[in-house]
Amino acid sequence: MSEQARREELAASLAEVRGRLDRACRAAGRSPAEVELLAVTKNFPASDVVKLSELGLSSFAENREQEARNKVAEYAGLRPDGSARWHMVGQLQRNKARSVVRWADVVESVDSDRLAEALARATANALDAGDREHPLDVLVQVNLDEAVGRGGAPPAEVPRLAEMITRTSELRLRGVMAVAPLGGDPDMAFATLSEIAERVRVDHPEAVDVSAGMSGDLESAVAHGSTRVRVGTALLGGRRLISP
Ligand SMILES: *Cc1c(COP(=O)(O)O)cnc(C)c1O
Repeated sequence: MSEQARREELAASLAEVRGRLDRACRAAGRSPAEVELLAVTKNFPASDVVKLSELGLSSFAENREQEARNKVAEYAGLRPDGSARWHMVGQLQRNKARSVVRWADVVESVDSDRLAEALARATANALDAGDREHPLDVLVQVNLDEAVGRGGAPPAEVPRLAEMITRTSELRLRGVMAVAPLGGDPDMAFATLSEIAERVRVDHPEAVDVSAGMSGDLESAVAHGSTRVRVGTALLGGRRLISP
């Protein structure tokens, strides 16, 4: 596909997703300005990030550390003046903390004390070395699907983990994130997440972000108070491998 054709394809899918978001917000009596659109660019090349950025998006997410690290560097080379905020949304091994804090503005998948501690230490080192300028924004990932290990802290542990994060000076607690259970009822899952988010906000008023909703369930997430939808397939298309 030519660059021009890809640009038109991305523009069309972006218009469609924005339309869905607008309708979902209107149906929920909310303003579209309350819900951020995060483009999940995993499995797609840096050239697509450039095009989405030129189309006005500024927040991008990845779920694999190594792929992300390379793509962020490539994007910076392709568009040196483009600003972008990068979110890590995938399960993260502690031994990747050192690397992730060198490209991520936000880590949305913090689900244990040990990971939070590793990220805090790595952020401190990166700040000292001049490899980052700001503390790391983090969300606590909540597991709404305890039968399956798709990452996330059990709901009962979320308040304590949130508290632990706020005691570090390198991490800034911004809210919660979750993925609706595969094949489950997203309305039920996002209603539960909304209660957990509210509980965290009572203790930590600055933790206002609720990252919920993907291509298939963003309407439900918006109805239940999501402030950030993470959209991959509906924007970029079916998953394409960028490298063999
Ligand atoms: C891939 C991914 C998304 C986007 O999913 P789509 O269904 O492609 O929109 C959102 N969140 C996380 C954590 C993901 O890994």
